[in-house]
Amino acid sequence: MTFKADVFTLYPDMFPGTLGAALAGKALADGLWSLDAYNIRDSATDKHRSVDDTPAGGGAGMVLRADILAKALDTHVPANDPRPKLLMSPRGVPLSQQMVRDLADGPGAVIVCGRFEGVDERVIEARGLTEVSIGDYVLSGGEVAAQVVLDAVVRLLPGVMGNDVSGAHESFEDGLLEHPHYTRPVEWEGRTIPDVLRSGDHKKIDAWRRERSEALTRARRPDLLKT
Ligand code: SAH
Repeated sequence: MTFKADVFTLYPDMFPGTLGAALAGKALADGLWSLDAYNIRDSATDKHRSVDDTPAGGGAGMVLRADILAKALDTHVPANDPRPKLLMSPRGVPLSQQMVRDLADGPGAVIVCGRFEGVDERVIEARGLTEVSIGDYVLSGGEVAAQVVLDAVVRLLPGVMGNDVSGAHESFEDGLLEHPHYTRPVEWEGRTIPDVLRSGDHKKIDAWRRERSEALTRARRPDLLKT
């Protein structure tokens, strides 16, 4: 079973985008996951192919219509589809490595990219969309956010990362930020690699890395230590 991603967007040309290159792109080409980007506008019903309308109650901007988005979803996603349906949204649950892992363990994801002021609330309720945010700032659309989610997920899929253990000690995997890294040359601009990393003593190296991880996390992200 390969991870199947279906993206609903007004800008299908933005896909695969960054997901077409490097690790994710190679995995896509190798069939380790699949990606389809559907144009929401193909489900428009009038001759102007309009997908949005003015907000009920007044105010600035436009709102993506419930009927059009629902038609797009219903055309491509069967009612009993087991995949989680996400709506990229600054109001959503903040994306976390735990959510990324859960998605990677599942059959795939249906991802809706918002535009304008957002999406009519009724389609969020009626199609059971889970709102997911990639951070406390506002993007112009959900496409980049969807690529962030999929990039984080795809690298965890079986066979994607060459070295399977490299995921285990990363930032967030154990509730800590990762320790610093070094590589040759041993001396560069008068700075040397810490001696312990060249000692060959793996117990000492592990202890040093753990200590650096904890100190970095305390300094930069004390909120992570509380959870
Ligand atoms: N008026 C909305 C913002 C709309 S931005 C509000 O104040 O909440 C337009 C679209 O960009 C959104 O529908 C969403 O799909 C996407 N988007 C913007 N910021 C995002 C974020 N931080 N995380 C995920 N998606 C985001």
